[in-house]
Amino acid sequence: MKNKIISSFLAVSTALSLTACDNNSSDISHLTGMINDDFQKNLHQTDRGSYVETENGYYFTLYRLCYIDKETGKVTIVCGKPDCDHKDDNACNAAIPCVYLLKGGDRLYFVNDTYADDGEAIKEVKSVNGDATGLKTEQELKFNEFSSSQSSYDDGIYHRGYIYYVSDDIIYRVKPNADKDAAEVVWSPENPGETQLVDGGLVYNPNWIHYTLWADGDFLYFMTKMQDEDEVNKQMLFQCDLTDMSVKRVWKTPSADEVGEWETTGVSVSQWYINDGYIYFYLSGGDMWRSNLSTGENEKLAETHEKTLYGSAVFNDEYMCLLNDIPVFFYGYTEPYPGGMFRSMGDTIYVYKTDGTFVRELSLTGLYDDPDELAQIDMLFCDDNSVYFLTTGMTTSTSGGGNMSVQQGNRKSTNLCRGDINTGKVEIVYSFSSILK
Ligand SMILES: [Zn+2]
Repeated sequence: MKNKIISSFLAVSTALSLTACDNNSSDISHLTGMINDDFQKNLHQTDRGSYVETENGYYFTLYRLCYIDKETGKVTIVCGKPDCDHKDDNACNAAIPCVYLLKGGDRLYFVNDTYADDGEAIKEVKSVNGDATGLKTEQELKFNEFSSSQSSYDDGIYHRGYIYYVSDDIIYRVKPNADKDAAEVVWSPENPGETQLVDGGLVYNPNWIHYTLWADGDFLYFMTKMQDEDEVNKQMLFQCDLTDMSVKRVWKTPSADEVGEWETTGVSVSQWYINDGYIYFYLSGGDMWRSNLSTGENEKLAETHEKTLYGSAVFNDEYMCLLNDIPVFFYGYTEPYPGGMFRSMGDTIYVYKTDGTFVRELSLTGLYDDPDELAQIDMLFCDDNSVYFLTTGMTTSTSGGGNMSVQQGNRKSTNLCRGDINTGKVEIVYSFSSILK
């Protein structure tokens, strides 16, 4: 789910300056409080920002460290510094150098990229108070000794007392405030850094492989793309039993004869979610399915192709929320997406229960001032009441002609939005427009 392009965008975005906002430090002094100690599955569905749920709301990193109150929907920039205008990266507490958030509790934990005294790039676990004051370094993360650089940029996750993270082709775990050398290897190929055969899947140049980590109960999962027995690149899912640390492959992308043709047939699914022994997945251009991870049996849950030909989705234990956006190809530089493809034109979110029952649709057309505005919508996450998404309104211009034409997108607006799953109401909960250049 993560990729390097988005990571570099996030690095740039933290440098964007902010103007004065409605920061009120008295509102954010008591926000932490763990809801439980398990991996927060529904908050790991997007490349845009990192999210942690606490008792009363969500911390997230979009442009600055922010907090949304579950009850009121109010968004606050988490700074805690009196009279701060949040413009100065070096002065504002909310400009934490965060790569990804880990967990709440008495303090908010996160991981960042930094440099050691000798100039080498390292990653550190840090923590702050609930109002972003009291920044403290907890530990440095140990890295794969076979790696020539600490090039891993896959996000780690937090689950039941441990940070699970990847250094190139090795998965480690460590407690958030342990010594660096306390990190244990959870899984490693037999010969790190070389081409491997792993449980029937060939890994070519493991340093290029990305693992997406997941956890559910007693299992850690990691998804990666590998060649299967037929030398076809597929997403493959591995399961590590945390009670005995045994690892086995439990799933791979189904082929078209199993689940029908879809946008990226046989390669990767558009969105997936693991809960209670099943992987739920959405096939853009196809349907919503689940596979039993013990038996491998596929089950079609909803014929989503009847609602939308393409789409992007987020899951939680109870719902799947599906946006009817379509892939759009841009040649040239597109702010905030540096070239290539993004998704656009979505105007409706379809809400399904994870058993496939259709619940309702949410119309997004009222969110745009200008109906011609081209909007990228990033689905962020859903919970039991709401679906959160980020809209980026753009105007486009084309220069040159024929094969040499370059299309340029210019950002007009960036809004955090919430749809109420129970009532169908959709609203903008925070506008970043005034604080982005
Ligand atoms: Zn500030």
